[in-house]
Amino acid sequence: MKTCEEYEGFELGPIRPPSEAKSLMLRITRNCPWNSCTFCGLYKGQKFSIRPVSHIIKDIDVIRYYVDEIQKIMAQSDGAAHHQYMNLMAGQPESDRMALHAALIWVQGGMQSIFLQDANTLIIKPDDLVEILKHVQKSFPQVERITSYARSHTIARISDDDMACIAAAGLNRIHIGMESACDEVLDFVKKGVDKKTHIIAGQKVKRAGIELSEYFMPGLGGVTLSRENALETADALNQINPDFIRIRTLGLPENVELYKDFQSGSFIKPGDLPMAEELLLLLDNLNGITSTVKSDHILNLFQEVEGRLPEDKERMTAPLRAFLAMPPEEQLIYMVGRRTGIFSKLEDLYDSELRNHAEKARIAHRVTLDNVDDFTLEMMKQFI
Ligand code: SF4
Repeated sequence: MKTCEEYEGFELGPIRPPSEAKSLMLRITRNCPWNSCTFCGLYKGQKFSIRPVSHIIKDIDVIRYYVDEIQKIMAQSDGAAHHQYMNLMAGQPESDRMALHAALIWVQGGMQSIFLQDANTLIIKPDDLVEILKHVQKSFPQVERITSYARSHTIARISDDDMACIAAAGLNRIHIGMESACDEVLDFVKKGVDKKTHIIAGQKVKRAGIELSEYFMPGLGGVTLSRENALETADALNQINPDFIRIRTLGLPENVELYKDFQSGSFIKPGDLPMAEELLLLLDNLNGITSTVKSDHILNLFQEVEGRLPEDKERMTAPLRAFLAMPPEEQLIYMVGRRTGIFSKLEDLYDSELRNHAEKARIAHRVTLDNVDDFTLEMMKQFI
């Protein structure tokens, strides 16, 4: 895309995966080129654009400059570092202050990784991406990991040769929001991709030697397609064998289209119990793969459902089975404790102090077995 826009300084996009907390963010595109998924409100109302390569190169150079300055200040270590940071910041425009802050966080985090923003970096021309990656490598040769989000639809259209060039230039981890591989679910939530394309894209990333994270969203099929959501997704994941399978339970904020479907009754959101069943069904049906399962999102009911397949499958599924076998009153206390942030894992239920807090929260919020799903929905909105 040709553009004559002026460079207005270092830019930061709105989000990164939880695993990129220590990474430097480099904004390659703005917002999402698809922006139609009915469960996603991240970029609603925001126009997609591709930043000129020259602007991104300038961003990289600005970060290199501030990294050098920060390292000089650190090397002096005469106790006046804070004062010198403030001097460096003084009088700078907002974008430079943002760049300095980003550089500082990155230096403190060890400067090992970079995350390319926003939602689908691979939509830019492969040659442009290669040029950017090469400049990153030249400027920061110590970087071990460069990561991006990407849509399956986009990756499926990139040739194997181009993917190989992108990998050789340094992109070594891609996160794909698969969410589901059930075509009916994908259609309903307007994901703009089907199961076959998910599989083609995932296999292509793996063939290029790029580490692949695929996200699964329990609950996205609603009550009606819960089983299909688990089984079809497990089948696709079995054909891809991604390095990571990341669980990200459906949340339903009021600003997304799916919330309107929920209000009209055309989408029936499963509560925590059926979502636990759905996750168990997925895990039970992951076969013949060596992926690592991660549960690194606050909306997940169980943070401990993590491990490597196949050896950790029993251990990973144990808390789900235990939870589903509990008396309803015990399940209720766990759900309230988890959704209020008191519990992070099932065994917290047996910590008398935490359990006491959870029981008090249940009473304070008047949560019963009849209204727990409404309570959960409200609590989850606070974390989105
Ligand atoms: S592709 Fe990703 S960022 Fe874009 S609308 Fe869908 S879920 Fe949101």
